[in-house]
Amino acid sequence: MLKRLKTDFRLSIITILGTSAFLGITPFAIMRFVQGNLVAGAIDTAILVTIFGGMAYAWITGDTRRSGMVLAFIACSGAVAVAATVGEVGLFWLYPCLVTTFFLVKPRIATVLNLCSIAAMMAQREVFQTQVQMWTFAATALVVSATAFAFAQRTDNQRERLEQLATIDPLTGVKNRRAMDEELILAAAHATRTGLPYALVMLDIDHFKTVNDEYGHGVGDGVLVDLVSLVQQHTRQSDQLFRYGGEEFVLLLPGVDGAGLTAVMNNLQHSLRTKLKHPGGAATVSFGVALLSAGEPVENWIERADTALYRAKEAGRDQVVFAEAKSSSSPGLLMASPG
Ligand code: GH3
Ligand code: MG
Ligand code: MG
Repeated sequence: MLKRLKTDFRLSIITILGTSAFLGITPFAIMRFVQGNLVAGAIDTAILVTIFGGMAYAWITGDTRRSGMVLAFIACSGAVAVAATVGEVGLFWLYPCLVTTFFLVKPRIATVLNLCSIAAMMAQREVFQTQVQMWTFAATALVVSATAFAFAQRTDNQRERLEQLATIDPLTGVKNRRAMDEELILAAAHATRTGLPYALVMLDIDHFKTVNDEYGHGVGDGVLVDLVSLVQQHTRQSDQLFRYGGEEFVLLLPGVDGAGLTAVMNNLQHSLRTKLKHPGGAATVSFGVALLSAGEPVENWIERADTALYRAKEAGRDQVVFAEAKSSSSPGLLMASPG
């Protein structure tokens, strides 16, 4: 539970909102009922129930986008409704809501919501004692919204940048191993739900150390970038390439198996053989291919592709080796000879 609060920013804001709504609104709701102000008491109770419902929905489903939207709307319209029933108290409640909206929904939606709330508040002239008070409210509410907007925009940009740094390989621009782990879990879940076949190809440049040793690391880097570009050119948009580490890559191919998969691999091998070069000539690549078996754990799937790659290396490199479907005994391998 603590881990979810730490890693899911919007869920933590929703939880703070739920908890402070409980602590901040409950005493007022009770007080209003005790004082016989049933309408205000009912509004407070409705706000409490909706915020709590939204918080529970976010925790149970993980869908913080939808509950964030509902909660932002309820918080703002709740403050306006409080002002309509008990007067200027609603003004004070609106301020925290104006800030919170930016943490619950996208900055643009939050801006629209804030402007509407400020306008709705100003439309209730009886809430303000003087004109000066009303315009002071408008000015301060706008300053709060603008500051929150700037902060939220900056946080959004930084979050995007951090996400990119954490998942993209800087040299080649493809996703890294961390992103791959997540994508493979999604792919396995999708395969279980839909029955779509998924193939995983592990590929590794042959004798790459020699390229580095003879021509320098910079040239080696260039070969890695060329490899990525060639693989992307010769695969479909739905296929995903990841840098597994060093000069090893993983290619995830959805929707291919059998003869189709063999044709894809032959085509890819042929293209790389003819187009991937270093200053001393052609660079070749070895491939290990494994089709996801029903109910197979992702680690096992990767391991079978890795074993197939190892066998391709053992068999002389520049080979495609297909792992046999997972069985209870040792994983079998089928060899495709170079040709
Ligand atoms: P094999 O055919 O068995 O795969 O031989 P190899 O020489 O390719 O394999 P090995 O794993 O021994 O060497 C991999 C080399 O890849 C060693 C390392 O210097 C190089 N390497 C790893 N990451 C990078 C990188 O980002 N840039 C460059 N230029 N080289 C890298
Ligand atoms: Mg290698
Ligand atoms: Mg290697």
